[in-house]
Amino acid sequence: MLHRDIKSSLRGVVSSVYYATGHFLSLFKGRVLILMYHRVLPSAEVVQSYVQAGMYVQNDIFERQLRFLKRHFRILRFSELLDIWEGKGLDRDTRYCVLTFDDGWRDNYLYAYPALKEHRVPATLFLPTSLVGSGYWLWSDRMGYLLKALFDTEGEREGRRLLRSLLAESGRGKLTAPDSAGETIDSVIEQCKALPEGEIESLIGTLRAKTGAEIPGKRRFLTWKEAREMSEGGISFGAHSCTHRILTALSRDEVEQEAADSFEVLRREGVDSVPVFCYPDGQSTPAIERQIQAAGYRAAVSTTFGFEGAIPQNRFRLRRIGIHNDISRTAPLLVGRMAGIHRVFTR
Ligand SMILES: [Zn+2]
Repeated sequence: MLHRDIKSSLRGVVSSVYYATGHFLSLFKGRVLILMYHRVLPSAEVVQSYVQAGMYVQNDIFERQLRFLKRHFRILRFSELLDIWEGKGLDRDTRYCVLTFDDGWRDNYLYAYPALKEHRVPATLFLPTSLVGSGYWLWSDRMGYLLKALFDTEGEREGRRLLRSLLAESGRGKLTAPDSAGETIDSVIEQCKALPEGEIESLIGTLRAKTGAEIPGKRRFLTWKEAREMSEGGISFGAHSCTHRILTALSRDEVEQEAADSFEVLRREGVDSVPVFCYPDGQSTPAIERQIQAAGYRAAVSTTFGFEGAIPQNRFRLRRIGIHNDISRTAPLLVGRMAGIHRVFTR
């Protein structure tokens, strides 16, 4: 914990110094920064239900970020970026930026869209098309909810003890034990990402039985009607597969289906679509990338950190910069994040 705090304040200091030099203004010239957001939430909602730190930006901070980005960047629609890459190329003196949001969370409609519309900033949302309008919760969201319920009812110490024994029973005893409930939840979710789907679901089942908690029926994802309304206000939609299953765990035929069907649905539902694919969990292989290209997409985005220049390193694995609250709540932190200063501290 202390280690984490020191890292975080060091990052703050270094970011402030870096920001003051203004070096980023030249660093980003002739480059395009594709920003990756997930959820945008008022702080009250973050406190109420468990949201992973890496998953959200507070709505007031998001608005400040929009003002900052408008001041320093030319913000492109994704289709404009593709046209520029295929046409005359990026201008060497201009800083470019593209905003993307993964998963199609309902809060994107409630909190991000009004700000984007007001500031006339375009953005692209990547939708897992089968989840649109559904009451389905992603496993990470369900697990976060149940773990929070466990800590709320049992208290931190007892909650962690129960969780350890539960993980040990399921053969997952190698849990690192951070100091706070929040960090434990985050760490368990991150560790589960390496597990097969079936094991994750059985762990969720055990947690449900232990806590007696039920996942509320509250809708998590936006509806097609909301998506169509957003299309009128400068938002375009790309595909994030149909089911949000990790493509590297699927057969070749399944990948083909996920790629083809998701874009077909976007077109059928009459939203402003853009032929860009977003890999669930950022996971792809060169073979999957070729399949995405063969399915008719013009590009695909990953979750690998980085920005692109005049010619993208790999059009079917574009690098992005993940933006979330704790690492980007001030302008210096945001700039530090975009410049990759955080990488010095994660090594
Ligand atoms: Zn996703």
